[in-house]
Amino acid sequence: MANTQAVVVGGGICGMVAALLLKQRFTNVVLIEQADTVGGLFCSVKDSSGAAYDMGSHIPNATGMAELDEILFADTDTSSWHKIARLCSGNYFGGSWDLNSPFPDASKLPQDIYQQGCGELINHTDLPESNLIYDYCTNSLGVVFTESIVVPILRKLYGQDAPLKSLTMAAGLFGFTRILALPADVTATLKQLPAFDAKLGYQREADFQQRKVQDNLSEVTYYYPTTGEGIGYWVTQLQKRVERAGIEIITSERVANIAHHDKKVTSLVLANSERVLDCDFLFWSAPPFIALAAMGLTPARGLVTLRTALIFHLNFDRPLLDNKSHYLWVWDPSSAIFRLTLYPNLTGQSNHNHLSAEILCSPDEVDSFTQSEIIQQLVSMGVVDPQAKCVSGQTQVINNTFPVPTTEFQAVNQQNYETLSNCVDNVVVSGRFSGKCWRQAEVLIEAYESIMQATDAS
Ligand SMILES: Cc1cc2nc3c(=O)[nH]c(=O)nc-3n(C[C@H](O)[C@H](O)[C@H](O)COP(=O)(O)OP(=O)(O)OC[C@H]3O[C@@H](n4cnc5c(N)ncnc54)[C@H](O)[C@@H]3O)c2cc1C
Repeated sequence: MANTQAVVVGGGICGMVAALLLKQRFTNVVLIEQADTVGGLFCSVKDSSGAAYDMGSHIPNATGMAELDEILFADTDTSSWHKIARLCSGNYFGGSWDLNSPFPDASKLPQDIYQQGCGELINHTDLPESNLIYDYCTNSLGVVFTESIVVPILRKLYGQDAPLKSLTMAAGLFGFTRILALPADVTATLKQLPAFDAKLGYQREADFQQRKVQDNLSEVTYYYPTTGEGIGYWVTQLQKRVERAGIEIITSERVANIAHHDKKVTSLVLANSERVLDCDFLFWSAPPFIALAAMGLTPARGLVTLRTALIFHLNFDRPLLDNKSHYLWVWDPSSAIFRLTLYPNLTGQSNHNHLSAEILCSPDEVDSFTQSEIIQQLVSMGVVDPQAKCVSGQTQVINNTFPVPTTEFQAVNQQNYETLSNCVDNVVVSGRFSGKCWRQAEVLIEAYESIMQATDAS
């Protein structure tokens, strides 16, 4: 076999898995990561008490693809992992919790608004075609429910000044195009119709289970480490596997230059060491515009806003009051928090009483939120005991996270992705930065399929 080399840029979960898949197809694989450690958004942090926290709710699940799952979850039959057959989620809306559904319950709105909204909702019987969230929702849920439920959520996630009417469905991140409304039995019947299935959530567990049987949906298993290291343990295990496979990992490094000839990338030059790497195949999971610039091409530019995630990691001296939910959505506009991750419920252990509360904001809003204000909100929402004291914690600010999914963002992203994918044949552009998908399982399935397609074709 000829000596061949694949280069992977971006050492997040996507890049690490890609490196392992490529090692079965190329003699050498080199992984380049700009940070000083691999793992990307799947790294965890520990506070002064040793409680571990993740960068938001990061609960990986099996993909259903044997080769991929073998890489991802090879050691999950050990006691180091908590297997979760059913992920428990709920949401806070209208001043109270619904611990059985992630979707906001419209019946908590003032009765006149609710009745008006139901009248509108029932009259929209077609599945909307619009790619814009606002148009889609007004043509599905109706104007009343869009304005009273969806718009406040969009403002919480994307900012008070976000151009609401030009936000696209592309990112599809949070599933807020579904609500609970109408009596439970009416919902169960209406959900047989695609237009109603898309906008209503089931209200009874039995209806949901019956639907799963009807659609022959397989159960999805979720995994969370019990080792006390948070989801970062998963990354550590994957990193060991990458190293054992003989893949070279280069951290604190970037690509300065990409040489290409006859529609093929031929070599890369690293920025700090100036090392030259021969390259028969390039897997790119960093932002595409960086590759285009390194190739001497002009990337598309436009107003692209990425939200800052401000995460309050908190550990208390008393158990959390919710001992069931793995994570929770906070849709109520009264709190800036949009999601909570409850670690004792994820690990199945109670060494610490810790949670993460996530807020999305702009970088200049970070200082306007205080830990004491967030704790007060958690107490008033009934998640934290009023008598509990915060014994340790950490506040994390992560810039450039969720994109504000405007039409401009989508166009710029799409153009850079296409320019990069089309100008050379031996490149796969993947990962969350490709703009094609966002969630962990979708990102990994897409990466797997792209590698299979590209390497089978070559
Ligand atoms: C706050 C938050 C919460 C989330 N919650 C969930 C969730 O609940 N469920 C879920 O499924 N998904 C969630 N996600 C999405 C999830 O994090 C992604 O699916 C996953 O991280 C994608 O992996 P990746 O490798 O593509 O990206 P990343 O993890 O971002 O990794 C990309 C890597 O590339 C590196 N890099 C960037 N530029 C360069 C360069 N020029 N050269 C070299 N390296 C570079 C970065 O340093 C990073 O290590 C969440 C994301 C965020 C931000």
